[in-house]
Amino acid sequence: MNTVLYIEAQKRLIRMAPETDLAIVGGGPAGLTAAIYCARMKLKTTVFEAEKIGGVASTAKLIENYPGFKSISGEELSERMRAQAEYCGANIVFDTVNDLNPTEMLLTTASGEQWKAKAVIIATGSKRQRLGLSNEKDLEGQGISYCAVCDGSIYGNKIVAIVGGENTAAMDTIYLSGLARKVYLIHNEPRLNVSKELEEEVLAQRDLVPMFNCKIEEAISKKTFNESKGEYEEILRKLKVLNLETNETSEIRVKALFIALGEDPFKLAKLAKIETDVSGAIIVNQDQQTNIEGIFAAGDVTGNIKQIGTAVGEGIIAAMKAGFYAKKKIRKNTAGEA
Ligand SMILES: Cc1cc2nc3c(=O)[nH]c(=O)nc-3n(C[C@H](O)[C@H](O)[C@H](O)COP(=O)(O)OP(=O)(O)OC[C@H]3O[C@@H](n4cnc5c(N)ncnc54)[C@H](O)[C@@H]3O)c2cc1C
Repeated sequence: MNTVLYIEAQKRLIRMAPETDLAIVGGGPAGLTAAIYCARMKLKTTVFEAEKIGGVASTAKLIENYPGFKSISGEELSERMRAQAEYCGANIVFDTVNDLNPTEMLLTTASGEQWKAKAVIIATGSKRQRLGLSNEKDLEGQGISYCAVCDGSIYGNKIVAIVGGENTAAMDTIYLSGLARKVYLIHNEPRLNVSKELEEEVLAQRDLVPMFNCKIEEAISKKTFNESKGEYEEILRKLKVLNLETNETSEIRVKALFIALGEDPFKLAKLAKIETDVSGAIIVNQDQQTNIEGIFAAGDVTGNIKQIGTAVGEGIIAAMKAGFYAKKKIRKNTAGEA
């Protein structure tokens, strides 16, 4: 097909959809909370969700640090948030937002629809980077974790390892030291890539064993009987570590490996020219406002402490500020028409 025909075909695919006051990209805790608040302001609220409502929170087996629930599954908490958002009047559209034109406040979805919004809240979460071990996915939740704050307490008084050399790894080390009996910090460079103060703070931690210039070659697991499940499962037991200076390999016994490599940069922000920091997180001010007027961001995508409580808090602020912004636009439009 030639280019002109292709463009015409694409244009035909794009159906004009109704306008929305608030477009919320992402149906995780941040997006659903924002939806509850915006809908309760009687604003037309549309949540776009690419995969699964509840975001990564829905994959958490047990959440034990969200206020009000001693223990709740991620699935159930997500379902409650979805039901509340819809009850308040929010509309959930299962589609991926592929493009955001900030000048026209126009969102284009994977199915080819275009949505015009008065304000946009980006709540797309963050994609944690994987280390690339062959059995990494199989051992997730069985010794391998991407969230020290979520899973750290499970390994109280045990030997654990953290891999990474930037802020996430540094903060995880400080968090886990004192909780765990011994913490190995494995990094493939000679020093951490953080500020001098933070590096000093990390290296001063009790029971820390820094393993710099080292690389994890293998995660060794063992079939172990899980009494609560009544079945055998592969559990992480050891790590095979290569010293890049001496070329020697050693094995260390650990109960957990925390992968703290940061996030994949956020593509939609790049397209809309929204300012991000070096890790790809969207930069916001105290109103959760990005560098672009009318576009707000909340939750893991802003690079703050990656927890449901934080996502909910940021979702509320973004909703209130974006809601006021949208209301002002509606008032001005109505005054203009009169
Ligand atoms: C295994 C695990 C266990 C955890 N346990 C806990 C815990 O016990 N306690 C706790 O407080 N926190 C926990 N967390 C962290 C918590 O889940 C996150 O901090 C929280 O979900 C962040 O919410 P969010 O809305 O910012 O992002 P997310 O939950 O990541 O949701 C973002 C949503 O946006 C959607 N999306 C992305 N791009 C697009 C697009 N272009 N168009 C449309 N939709 C899009 C995604 O599909 C996703 O559903 C855990 C995380 C994991 C992975």
